[in-house]
Amino acid sequence: MGQHTQVKAFDVEKIRKDFPILNREVNGYPLVYLDNAATAQTPVQVMDAIVDYYSNYNANIHRGVHSLSQEATDKYEQARIKIQKHFNAEKAHEIIFTSGTTHGINMVASGFASLLKEGDEILVSALEHHSNIVPWQMLCEKTGAILKVIPMNQNGELIYSELEKLLGDRTRVVFLNHVSNALGTVNPIKKIIDAAHEFGAAVLIDGAQAAPHIKADVQELDVDFYVVSAHKMCGPTGVGMLYGKEEWLEKLPPYQGGGEMIATVSFEKTTYAGLPHKFEAGTPNICGGIAFGAALDYMNAIGFDAIAEYEHGLLEYATAKLKEIEGMKIYGEASEKTAVISFNVEGLHPYDIGTLVDKMGIAVRTGHHCAQPVMEFYKIPGTVRASFAFYNTTEEVDRFIEAVKKAVMMLQ
Ligand SMILES: *Cc1c(COP(=O)(O)O)cnc(C)c1O
Repeated sequence: MGQHTQVKAFDVEKIRKDFPILNREVNGYPLVYLDNAATAQTPVQVMDAIVDYYSNYNANIHRGVHSLSQEATDKYEQARIKIQKHFNAEKAHEIIFTSGTTHGINMVASGFASLLKEGDEILVSALEHHSNIVPWQMLCEKTGAILKVIPMNQNGELIYSELEKLLGDRTRVVFLNHVSNALGTVNPIKKIIDAAHEFGAAVLIDGAQAAPHIKADVQELDVDFYVVSAHKMCGPTGVGMLYGKEEWLEKLPPYQGGGEMIATVSFEKTTYAGLPHKFEAGTPNICGGIAFGAALDYMNAIGFDAIAEYEHGLLEYATAKLKEIEGMKIYGEASEKTAVISFNVEGLHPYDIGTLVDKMGIAVRTGHHCAQPVMEFYKIPGTVRASFAFYNTTEEVDRFIEAVKKAVMMLQ
């Protein structure tokens, strides 16, 4: 994964100039944005792609013979190829544009309704985002399949030996996230994919939280489905990718009916278009798809190895500093994690800490992070979560720590 790219020198001050929002003030203080796991900020290069689209070639795609429509179609299909290359998919039509991770998971889960029987088993990890639990529960209700949970340990890591016990001849689908958004744990997905394949099960990986930090190679992973959202990796909201192996995408029925996804329509019988159009009914988020491509160009120019190394430095620095605060409890200390810190201070409610640090210009997330089962495991209502991106600085970490210390003093 990314071992071919060289680690480049990292000039964070230069990078920050690409993000105008980082210059703004919040409540009278310069903004420190540490909610990157919820959505990442957008560089001017991506904004320029959006303005260029609406200024110069806004048109519907795949339909018109006129020049604007051709241009828009070309740019949209070029974006698909950028995404294909980025994730190293074998074929461009294995890349389906979606409205985001949630949409991609629902497409796959609903497609499996026609392939599952009563008593079939679906494995899900204990670390999942709600978007990766609920669609599968709905699928189980519809088909009589059984949902089984791969348990986690106190460090926030999945217990691999338990997974081995759960896998069996009835296992049809295994799904888990590549990186947990609640704790930052990086799951050993290659090992899990290989183990699941021994039983002929399909594996869907939710890459939403991994994609901003780790360049996944879907062929090397041999994964069956991989889903991401553009907005977590410097792109706009409302657009994402579903990667599916051709053989699986051929097997699954279309998700929605409409324009664009058909070959021929009559009231007697409609035939479906080939991939990827079979899964892309209606007018898509054309501008969003093109901007997604621009976001990948932007991040690749910086380099994912450089990003991961820099962010890891921020994570270690912030973790060490936070631990100096009395009563600090950090949740999720997996040996491999991305730059996410979930924490609580003894006796204090996460919401109160979040509200007070916001008054000092610091944006963090508080709550259950769409992962209530993880919170239940630790028997807490929620955490404060600080998540870092490659445009954050050590000085910002210092301001964050100072703000938490002040908040703790005010609340005690
Ligand atoms: C953000 C996130 C999602 C949901 O992404 P949407 O863009 O809201 O569809 C799913 N899984 C994980 C791990 C996430 O971090």
